[in-house]
Amino acid sequence: MTGVATGVRGDESGLVSRLSLEQKVRLLTGADSWVLHGENAVGLRPMVLSDGPAGVRGKRFDSADPSTSLPSPIGLAATWDERLVQEVTRALGREARSKGIDVILGPTVNIVRTPLNGRGFECFSEDPLLTSRIAVAYVRGVQSAGVGATVKHYVANDSETERRTYDARVTEQVLRELYLPPFEACVAEADVFLVMAAYNSVNGAFMSENLTLLRDLLKTEWGFRGVVVSDWSATSTTVASAKAGLDLVMPGPDGPWGEHLVAAVRAGTVPEAEVDDKVSRLLGLARRVGALDGAGHTDGSHVGGASAAPALVDSRLLREVTSRSFVLLTNPRGLLPLRGLLPLEGGKVRKVALIGPNAIDPQTQGGGSVRVLPAVRTDLAKSLRAAFGSSATVSVHQGCLTSATTAAPAQGSLRDPVSGEEGLRVEVRTADRAVVHDEHFSRSALTWWDGLPEAVHLPGSVVVLRARYRPEVDGPHVLGVSGVGLLRVSVDGSVLAEATNLPPRDVVEALSRPPELRVPLQLKAGREVEVTFEHGPNARGHQSGFAAMRLGITPWVEDESLLDEAVQAAANADVAVVVVGSPEGTESEGYDRETMVLPGRQDELVRRVAAANPSTVVVVNSGMPVLMPWAGEVAAIIQVWFPGQAFGDALADVLVGAAEPGGRLPVSVPRVEADSPVLSAHPQAGALTYGEGLLVGYRGYDRNGAEPLFCFGHGLGYTDWTYESFTPATEAIAAGEDLEVLVTVRNTGGRAGREVVQVYLEGPDDDPGRPVRTLSGFATVDAGAGEQAEARITVPGRSFARFDEARREWVSHLGTYTLRAGRSSRDLRLNTQVVQR
Ligand code: BGC
Repeated sequence: MTGVATGVRGDESGLVSRLSLEQKVRLLTGADSWVLHGENAVGLRPMVLSDGPAGVRGKRFDSADPSTSLPSPIGLAATWDERLVQEVTRALGREARSKGIDVILGPTVNIVRTPLNGRGFECFSEDPLLTSRIAVAYVRGVQSAGVGATVKHYVANDSETERRTYDARVTEQVLRELYLPPFEACVAEADVFLVMAAYNSVNGAFMSENLTLLRDLLKTEWGFRGVVVSDWSATSTTVASAKAGLDLVMPGPDGPWGEHLVAAVRAGTVPEAEVDDKVSRLLGLARRVGALDGAGHTDGSHVGGASAAPALVDSRLLREVTSRSFVLLTNPRGLLPLRGLLPLEGGKVRKVALIGPNAIDPQTQGGGSVRVLPAVRTDLAKSLRAAFGSSATVSVHQGCLTSATTAAPAQGSLRDPVSGEEGLRVEVRTADRAVVHDEHFSRSALTWWDGLPEAVHLPGSVVVLRARYRPEVDGPHVLGVSGVGLLRVSVDGSVLAEATNLPPRDVVEALSRPPELRVPLQLKAGREVEVTFEHGPNARGHQSGFAAMRLGITPWVEDESLLDEAVQAAANADVAVVVVGSPEGTESEGYDRETMVLPGRQDELVRRVAAANPSTVVVVNSGMPVLMPWAGEVAAIIQVWFPGQAFGDALADVLVGAAEPGGRLPVSVPRVEADSPVLSAHPQAGALTYGEGLLVGYRGYDRNGAEPLFCFGHGLGYTDWTYESFTPATEAIAAGEDLEVLVTVRNTGGRAGREVVQVYLEGPDDDPGRPVRTLSGFATVDAGAGEQAEARITVPGRSFARFDEARREWVSHLGTYTLRAGRSSRDLRLNTQVVQR
């Protein structure tokens, strides 16, 4: 027994034996942030990794090579539609291929433990079964295009605060029953190519060196045969990580392996067989993505040269999945007419007031590594105008201020002083002011995940943004510049302000919400001024290659006047569509939210608009739920998450009824924060204690007696359903056996629609430490008006078992189970029983 993890793919051992120890070890750390080393001796070309999971960024954030921006994963899961998710992620895999990408760093399959998790939008659900089903579909889709998927972050990466250091204290039973199942399902059912080890530690051992969870569980017990990659800069040890089962250290080229690992092998502290196993897995990955024997990508492209035009996701498919991710939370019926406000009756709507901070600045993506440069700009007013046609007018009103940063300059107001094009000039100047890099940019916010021009690394160098700004109105304006490091801002050649700030704890925070320096300006409509923003990225930014810069300019306005104007517009309109939610920088990787309350005066805005116009639809544009104290005062609420680039068109489709909002909640929405079973995302003294055990999300609400505002699984459509029958294939099952059930439903409404049939399981005894019921299967069915549809659902044998800590195995729990079928975790229409003997 060498202590080497099992899972070596024997077919690569011939190749491995051709390499020297140095050649082998070299392959196990990245060549840079995203590219792996190639090795001519075995015909291996360099493989390229890129972030997801809500799109694929490509090798660079590059406006010449934009990406499809998909609904955030929480939205994909809200479709509860495995087939559709698989179709979309197959298209995503093809897009990755066309950009020369071999591996997508997604999906994120951590459980939404607290609604304050800054990265909750990037996860699928608070429920492990829904997460597993959608994750398996996601992985299958991506990998069917010949691209590797990476399930991350293994495991218990459920808070962003101190994410690199905290220790998750969680029992094995809770890990096995709640947090591990999505990883296990992706290994067993989707043969996922990679698993990413999280930053945090679990029960005292960092995940990149966690022998019990990497080698013993993932590789030995589950038989994972792919590659375990570290999270970026997560590995700090040589021997412990190498022996625990980590295969690939990222990013490179430096890191704790390299020559240190060679020395450890020579010294006999790490068996060479351990290294061989890692290389074998890496070559196995290369074979699967077509990177061996000089093979190009299946579309003929090679590393460093993707095919000419990226194969973006089909816009109709994107629009469909986006409207299916929207959850209609309320749409109450009046007495007359006997229908809810939605869908709006086309012909009757002449005036639409589109209101809200997120109507002006829609948030299509959450923050962090998930971000892509979208191929299409979202413009809600434009999409609504197209849907309502020429007989209706759509006016736009901000309603209130929410953003922590100064708004981006209005479209068309900024031009490059050199080329005259819309946008700005980016220069890199050395300490002696020589311009060593010079290019045009069309946006006023710039992010370098890497690829910061080389010259920025010279001491005393600055990045300079130059633009001419043409104000639309006379009077006071605000100019804001953001970044981490030195910020200096000049207007028409005079320096107005200068400051230096320190880097935040997490480098990603520096990208998602860089600190801002603001100056007041008095401007004249139509009279251009020249704005210069000099930025000296902080030393840490230099080293990592990460940097973000942002320039905002906007006329100074008071909240009060924005509110008044919006209320007035609503009063004069046939319908008010109020888009509220998270401003940019609120929900991101790298930090958690502090509150579920809508920022700024948005609650007041909704209330005042609804009082002025009973036909008020509220669109909630947030990645995680927000509190909605006004829920009972408005005509309809649609939760749209961070919906990606098709936001506008999908919203228009749903408002006019061209599409049914098909989503169901993958997370519970509380009435007040204190009702959340787990709220705080903050570790205490470095530890995150999972004291709630299994009672996360709806499982917690069901036990703590709190009624959520909207429960897990909830979502309305545009038609009605009755549940007609619920039949298990058998009344008794043997231990470990799956159970087939059949649910028949009928569309009793006036139009075709889709229903998400949900099955929940209640155990034989009432143990207060265990959930009252758990989601155990679901299916989507379509039916025309009056038609019946059948949902065939498999309840997995695992649902009838528990993890026994003492025996360290899954044990079937015998007895009589109640199965309930219905529309949500709290709207359960039919039940039946089955005995496990
Ligand atoms: C994130 C990962 C991401 C990686 C590369 C890390 O900070 O946690 O999800 O894939 O960076 O960008």
